[in-house]
Amino acid sequence: MAKILIPTPLRPYTDKQDAVDASGATVGELLADLTRKHAGLKAHLYNEQGRLRSFVNVYVNDEDIRYLQKEQTPVAANDTVSIIPSVAGGAGPEKGYDPFSTAAVAEKGSYPFSDREAPALTNDEVKRYSRHLIMPEVGVDGQRKLKAAKVLCIGAGGLGSPVAMYLAAAGVGTLGLVDFDVVDFSNLQRQILHSTPDVGRPKLQSAKEKLHALNPEIEIRTHEVALSSQNALQLFEPYDIIVDGTDNFPTRYLVNDACVLLGKPNAYGSIFRFEGQASVFATKNGPCYRCLYPEPPPPGLVPSCAEGGVLGVLPGLIGVIQATETAKLIMGIGEPLIGRFLIYDALRMRFRELKLRKDPDCPACGTHPTVTKLIDYEQFCGITPAAPEPVIVNNATELTSVELKQRLDRGEKLTIVDVREPNELQINRIPGSVHIPLGDIPKRYNELDPDAELVMQCKSGVRSAKAAEFLRSVGFKRVLNLKGGILDWIDKVDPSQPKY
Ligand SMILES: [Zn+2]
Repeated sequence: MAKILIPTPLRPYTDKQDAVDASGATVGELLADLTRKHAGLKAHLYNEQGRLRSFVNVYVNDEDIRYLQKEQTPVAANDTVSIIPSVAGGAGPEKGYDPFSTAAVAEKGSYPFSDREAPALTNDEVKRYSRHLIMPEVGVDGQRKLKAAKVLCIGAGGLGSPVAMYLAAAGVGTLGLVDFDVVDFSNLQRQILHSTPDVGRPKLQSAKEKLHALNPEIEIRTHEVALSSQNALQLFEPYDIIVDGTDNFPTRYLVNDACVLLGKPNAYGSIFRFEGQASVFATKNGPCYRCLYPEPPPPGLVPSCAEGGVLGVLPGLIGVIQATETAKLIMGIGEPLIGRFLIYDALRMRFRELKLRKDPDCPACGTHPTVTKLIDYEQFCGITPAAPEPVIVNNATELTSVELKQRLDRGEKLTIVDVREPNELQINRIPGSVHIPLGDIPKRYNELDPDAELVMQCKSGVRSAKAAEFLRSVGFKRVLNLKGGILDWIDKVDPSQPKY
């Protein structure tokens, strides 16, 4: 018996359990037992050939099984097995490579100011930063390094807010922000750079005002563009450190690859529901994001915060970790989060740390890299460039909310299946719908009449499209997806209901 920790995106397949006891003497046997108990997991963990999928990493305690005996790795009763979804692949590590070796740790000393003159502090700055100046680890030298530093923060949202506010307060001399969004009411629950009167304004406008009010001594550079393969290298070039505050796979791979190509460290963070991750990638001798996940998961496996939700305070903690690592790299102090992957579980208030190795076969930072320029990351992540959401539905398989209303008014017999989570149904609902959450569809679809005409519905049409696809795959003939979900229904048919 050993405990297998289940990450949030896979919990719909384990009856929402975050840990499952399984029996077996090796990782392979444990996972076989796990998928016997929770059959829905199998397709997510294994490919058609029965091999572990390339975007699934398995750890025994803090070690990646790729560097142990893979699925033959023995597991003792008190070991903890964790599934860290996204990817693996590649051969063994470079012989003798140790992320904690002096080479890896020595990097911290010289970033990134070995060849830049740090400016002197003004009298006002001495007052402002006095709590830094009296610490020997920071002192005047450290503060001057902060003043000389140029940091680019990708995104002025949940993670970008605490990152930018703390780095501005700490005196990072040049702070760049990339974002092209406008402030929405649903941002205010966590994006503390923005306030209620800012709703509808460009995020960069309100961010610049807040940051300048906090610290007028620093330079704020705003880049109101969508980060792309065309502009990333040029945008990153003048900066020393890049802070990844994005929430989608295409941008994350883009940021990673651009950092590797330019040799700039990437202070990484990501958040989902109650769970956060942080690391420092793409330093000279340390691993990059692709060493951990060479390829993205297929679209849909890992939902976005917009789909899955996020605890409002979570980005505060993860963003502060990113800001801390950035400040440490600038000053060359402490032990950076290089070669370590930090996982934070807010519900249990627990941190775990996994070892990360630089993969010599890494397509980006390995010894023979195949990523030698930026590529089309939407395509790489399996997302159609034109569509903001990964849905591919043809006309014959979807209907609009107006069409649905007309057909209901004509008295046609349609079964509307709402596949959202129960708490979402408490906010709004199409009258007469039946409720089966997306994660339950594989085991509960027999509750639906295969001869009835079904209209699958969720918030915006993404999850319901997945449900419709699944039902068609098990033989349902008349399955339609409600385009735009209940949001479109409220816009076009029933404006009396609240939107979220
Ligand atoms: Zn790499």
